[in-house]
Amino acid sequence: MARIGFIGLGNMGLPMAANLAKAGHDVAGFDIAGAHVDEATARGVKATSSAEDAAKGADALITMLPAGRDMLAVYEGTKVFSAAPKGALFIDCSSIDVASAKRAHALAARAGMASLDAPVSGGIAGAQGATLTFMAGGEPDAFERARPILEAMGRRIVHCGAAGAGQAVKMCNQMMVAINMVGVAEAFVLAEKLAIDPKVLYDVVVASSGGSWALANYVPVPGLVATSAAERGFKPGFTTQLMVKDLKIFQEAARSVGSASPVGAAAAALYELFLNGGHGHEDYSAIIELIRGRTT
Ligand code: NAD
Repeated sequence: MARIGFIGLGNMGLPMAANLAKAGHDVAGFDIAGAHVDEATARGVKATSSAEDAAKGADALITMLPAGRDMLAVYEGTKVFSAAPKGALFIDCSSIDVASAKRAHALAARAGMASLDAPVSGGIAGAQGATLTFMAGGEPDAFERARPILEAMGRRIVHCGAAGAGQAVKMCNQMMVAINMVGVAEAFVLAEKLAIDPKVLYDVVVASSGGSWALANYVPVPGLVATSAAERGFKPGFTTQLMVKDLKIFQEAARSVGSASPVGAAAAALYELFLNGGHGHEDYSAIIELIRGRTT
């Protein structure tokens, strides 16, 4: 069993760290929000008071932070690389831009550490149930070292390629689900206006060519699927704010290599409009309210 430092004990990081502790790892957690550290200690994670303390003596240091700048604030703004033992494995599970991910790999290599970008899909339910999918980028050796650690938090652990490849696959997933969700929302709003029973629309399309994960598991209309955020008044889940971040990352990457993404750009603009209307902390599937014409 490994000694693991875990930085970022939020909606995702807290249950992930708890699952590592449950699997028998020695986990030392840190978060700038003290309340999150307190919650983690109730679930088997040892409290530390700084990023450096979490890194001290660690075989692996995991970060699960909002964005690239937050991850780099830890990698560059603290002394985690001198606190961790030489050769320790740095795993960043945050969803961030490829440039920041590559920078993290370069900083780790310069400090004599192994590294992996390993963003996840599966949401809070996947983090709680240890059923996440990990999309990893980095050296094969680092991936093999990380595998037993990631297996305590997830079900599918996939090596996607070199440094940054995990983030590239993750952003593609985000762009696709964002577009799917807008499509589902537009269909259900039209169905409402045409007095079609939403259950009829759901039952037909879920087994037809228009079906998608967004429809089957996350349809933004209450009364159809227990796992949908619509069942809990669009409490996240996955916030609109995080979705906008991911869609911007995709658009930046597409622009940087001259890859067309006109529908992805339209989806990004719609979610940003919803965010600017004050809905950043609602689940992204609440975008159906914008389609209905709700602007505040
Ligand atoms: P969150 O905001 O709930 O948690 C982030 C945590 O990081 C917070 O507790 C915050 O206090 C802490 N933090 C921020 N800066 C810090 C720093 N410098 N040092 C220590 N702690 C710091 O976010 P989340 O929902 O847990 O998401 C984390 C990452 O996972 C994001 O990149 C997100 O896009 C990705 N993700 C989220 C979901 C989801 O369903 N929520 C699903 C897949 C991926």
